[in-house]
Amino acid sequence: MGKLNYTKTLRELGIAYLGNHSQSMKMKLSTANGTITYSLYLAPWNLSGYQVCPGGQYCHKFCLNGSGHNKAEILANGVELSKINMGRVKRTKLFYENKPLFMQLLIHEINKAQRYAQKHNMEFSVRLNCTSDLSPKAFVYEGKNILEIFPNVQFYDYTKVYNRIELLKEYSNYHLTFSYDGHNFDKCKEFLSNGGNVAVVFANQEMIPMRFAGYPVCDGNLWDMRYLDPKQHVVALHYHTTAANYDRNGNYIEPDDDFVISDENELVEWYAD
Ligand code: SF4
Repeated sequence: MGKLNYTKTLRELGIAYLGNHSQSMKMKLSTANGTITYSLYLAPWNLSGYQVCPGGQYCHKFCLNGSGHNKAEILANGVELSKINMGRVKRTKLFYENKPLFMQLLIHEINKAQRYAQKHNMEFSVRLNCTSDLSPKAFVYEGKNILEIFPNVQFYDYTKVYNRIELLKEYSNYHLTFSYDGHNFDKCKEFLSNGGNVAVVFANQEMIPMRFAGYPVCDGNLWDMRYLDPKQHVVALHYHTTAANYDRNGNYIEPDDDFVISDENELVEWYAD
């Protein structure tokens, strides 16, 4: 493949960038706490025509893809005509339809973001699956996957694909947090008993529990650097509404699934007053 003309390529693709940093509130909190995280947002589930969330059968409806700026975009223009979704679909199609070009852009941008972090004396990490759940082994260029291309960079993801745990044995620069989806409690317990962490969404917006299902809980709302969390913890996340929580008239719709843990859940232990 020839030398990449980054600006011209992006113009031809009709996107401003592939990934970026400090895009979400949580990433901004990471930045405020000294870490630049290069973040990639693909089109989740099968929105692009390609399935990027193999464990997403229960979570795709209330996926955080529909939160933040995109919530307003989707509510105003619909899922398909949201400009943010359209950009994410373009990136996802590029990933499947021209992987060498996608990877050239990705490598270029990670290098650029890393230089930016160094210049500002900040830590650096990469999260490729902000709105997808793909193996980093799928991000391949010239026979090497992205974890091998950047062996000194900290990569991390949340996942609902249990077997990804195997990657942790192979790559010391990769961190995974398994996610509770309301239906995978046994797998969550297995992940925890193997020393891993599990992200759980709690309805309470003010406090986090002391323990959940017998495991200590840490606060996952302070920033997004999950690789800094203490091991074998439940990572508490606040529930964020998405476009799927509102009907055409703007009325709130409760999620029809039980992935959000209520204050009354019998597995929750609160701190004593
Ligand atoms: S796996 Fe993650 S990105 Fe995919 S649909 Fe579920 S919540 Fe969204």
